[in-house]
Amino acid sequence: MRIGIFGGTFDPPHIGHLILAAEALDQLKLDQVLWTLTADPPHKQGQTISVVETRFQLLQAALADNPAFQISQVEMDRPGPHYAVDTVRILQGQYPLAELIYLIGGDSLRDLVTWHTPRTLTALVAGFGVMRRPGADIDLDLLARDIPGITAKVQFIDTPLVEISASQIRQRAAAGQPYRYFLPPQVFTLVKAFDLYRSVGTKTVVK
Ligand code: ATP
Repeated sequence: MRIGIFGGTFDPPHIGHLILAAEALDQLKLDQVLWTLTADPPHKQGQTISVVETRFQLLQAALADNPAFQISQVEMDRPGPHYAVDTVRILQGQYPLAELIYLIGGDSLRDLVTWHTPRTLTALVAGFGVMRRPGADIDLDLLARDIPGITAKVQFIDTPLVEISASQIRQRAAAGQPYRYFLPPQVFTLVKAFDLYRSVGTKTVVK
C-alpha cells in the first residue's frame, strides 16, 4: 500500500492542488491520497486564514467525487502548531504497513529546511512527490547540504506548471476579479454561499 500525504492550508482548495494530487496518484502509483488539512499552519502564524471548519467544508466539497482522495483529520484532532513530522509519525502508527509519500509543491520543497526537523521528516517518509511551481527553482545539491539523503527521496511529478495559488484567488475575490475557473465548481459555489474572501485579511466565519 502506497499512500500520498498531502498537507496544506487549503484556503481555498484549488485546481493546482487537485492536479498535483491526481498526477501523484497516477505517476507515483499511489493507492490513495490522504489530504491533511492543517488547522494551525506553522508557516502562516500571524496571517489571517479562514476558520478550519470552513476550510474543511471546502475541502470536502473539492474531494467528494473522487474515492481515492480522503481527508485525514489527524491535524484537526490535536492542538497546533501542526508540524508535518508529527503528522507523519501519527499516520505511520495508523498505517503501519504503508509506504508514506509526502506530496508538496516546489516552493515547499525549496523551503523544506525551514520546516520543523526536516532531517527527521525526510528519514521517516518513503519519498517526497514534488510538483514544480512557477518561481520556485530547486537546487537539490544545495538542499542536500542541510538535509543529507533528500536527493534520493525526491521524485518530481511531470505536469504543466500551474500558476495558481490560494492567496492569488483570495486577492482576486477581494478585488472583484474573476477566479471562478481556478476552483472546482462545488468549491466556487461554497465560496460564494459563505461570502468568503470579500476583503484580504478578513477573518471568515460560517454563520
Ligand atoms: P497560499 O497562496 O495561501 O500560500 P497555496 O496555494 O500555496 O496557498 P497551500 O494550501 O498553502 O496552497 O499549499 C498546499 C501544498 O500545495 C503546498 O505544498 C504547495 O506548495 C502546493 N501547491 C499549491 N498550489 C500549487 C501549484 N499551483 N503548483 C504546485 N504546488 C502547489
